[in-house]
Amino acid sequence: MLDDFIHEPRVAYFSMEIALRNEIPTYAGGLGVLAGDTVRSAADLELPLVAVSLVSRAGYFRQEIDAQGRQTEQPSLWEPREWARPLDAKIAVPIEGRAVWIGAWLYVLEGHMGGRQPVLLLDTDLDENRREDRQITHYLYGGDDTYRLKQEIVLGLGGVRLLHALGFEVRHYHINEGHSALLGLELLRRYIYSPEDRRPEESPYDIPRVRELCSFTTHTPVEAGHDRFSYELVQRVLGNAVDPTTLKHLAGAEDLNMTRLALNLSEYVIGVAKRHAEVSKAMFPGYRVHAVTNGVHPFTWTSEPFRKLYDHYLPGWCHEPELLARADCCIPDAAIWDAHGQAKLALIERVRARTGVVLHPKVPILGFARRMTAYKRPDLLFSDLERLKAIAGSRSFQIVLAGKAHPRDEGGKRLIEQLHAYARALAGVVPVAYLPDYDLETALALVSGADLWLNTPLRPFEASGTSGMKAAFNGVPSLSMLDGWWIEGCIEGVTGWAIGDAAGAADGEAHALYDKLEQVVLPFYYGYGDDPGGWIKVMKGAISKNASFFNSHRMMRRYTTEAYIR
Ligand SMILES: *Cc1c(COP(=O)(O)O)cnc(C)c1O
Repeated sequence: MLDDFIHEPRVAYFSMEIALRNEIPTYAGGLGVLAGDTVRSAADLELPLVAVSLVSRAGYFRQEIDAQGRQTEQPSLWEPREWARPLDAKIAVPIEGRAVWIGAWLYVLEGHMGGRQPVLLLDTDLDENRREDRQITHYLYGGDDTYRLKQEIVLGLGGVRLLHALGFEVRHYHINEGHSALLGLELLRRYIYSPEDRRPEESPYDIPRVRELCSFTTHTPVEAGHDRFSYELVQRVLGNAVDPTTLKHLAGAEDLNMTRLALNLSEYVIGVAKRHAEVSKAMFPGYRVHAVTNGVHPFTWTSEPFRKLYDHYLPGWCHEPELLARADCCIPDAAIWDAHGQAKLALIERVRARTGVVLHPKVPILGFARRMTAYKRPDLLFSDLERLKAIAGSRSFQIVLAGKAHPRDEGGKRLIEQLHAYARALAGVVPVAYLPDYDLETALALVSGADLWLNTPLRPFEASGTSGMKAAFNGVPSLSMLDGWWIEGCIEGVTGWAIGDAAGAADGEAHALYDKLEQVVLPFYYGYGDDPGGWIKVMKGAISKNASFFNSHRMMRRYTTEAYIR
């Protein structure tokens, strides 16, 4: 099995989380979904990749929400044996002065076009390890700093060692977010100058060689998204993996900053949208940051009715999503409207079954689903309930929400409670449903079944955002702040609508949202009576202008030609 993959050099793609399929809960949100889409596109395009992640046997968590909107977290256990096969090789890494053994599961990602990619899921739950070490790879983003550092040692150091032990020839390393930056330390240990090449006063490590081998994608301008560990902790847990002077030189003088380490050990650094690359340059002066705007996997994020439609009118769209650029001229309006109607009915049924809320097929659905945390501002739409009711009084609409809050994000949990309170306050005027346990399946149902995809982040914190791209594949236009990918994707009235302008102050944004809904979007939806031709034109604009571009095939072709092969 493994032999199928080790005969040619591969790009090793390291990610703390990865969304392989709905039954495997080894992801928390957008970062993991992007990692999954990366490997899915690599499979379709037959790019030789090997993904490395953690087995996360207890997943991120399963979200339960009570009637008050209080979130509780249950372990989301899965059985690796059902989906992956155990590999023979084992290696050890030093943690707290002892050897912690690491094995791996081979998950073979099979693309819908027959391409296959190996995914290694690292696992410390081995008989050789003592009890607490067996849990290092159990809880995705669980535990404290010490636990996180241990996970990152397993991922970075362990991943590189295991690839080597299994016989992989790695041509390039892709550090997908700083979590896996410790892989660079293992490479430094591998590439040490021979005594005759070494210049006095200089690092014993061949840093240029390691930089040549690595690319790094940074994913967020939010400070908490960048791991930092005190050197006291690093010393206690990791010891001296590389010499401390070099480490401080590469990872920061005060504490070990994983982002800085990745920046210093990667020749090619990438931000996930044009604006995000600029913001990252300002955050890390002196580094060159390229922009490769994210994309989503075409087949995965297209609902069944739209797959059928594209197969019929634009065959080959799955491999060349550029073909979707023709959707505006080549697909009849009625076929688009019918496919959307099917996806919408499926969402309405899901909402009824999961929440008891009954939605109306003729009334537009606003969809909003994302990680529940302060900067995403899921409450912006509800900041003036009287105004919202007044808008709904003349042109009705309904709302479907979903999203998890990190177990330790108290503010995020409070937001979920508030959203439930708003839903009660709007009862009888605006139907509001909250779908629990946001996952891949719920996401597809939502982005395809909604009529309008809403996003209201506080700028400039939305690095990219990808759910609006998924909506575009299903002919669903966005109404969004001009941040992240939407700065590039928004053509006003053609692919969707902007809230406010790119420079406006944050305090007027709720009004801008209400104004746009009341004066532009809802009249536009209803303005055509029984002929939704104008709206369908925007649906087609979303497909032909945005799905054709904001897909992970384009993203991977760019990563390949600009980062992996230079
Ligand atoms: C796409 C997706 C996300 C990320 O969406 P954003 O728009 O980037 O917030 C998070 N969770 C799930 C389950 C997704 O499918």
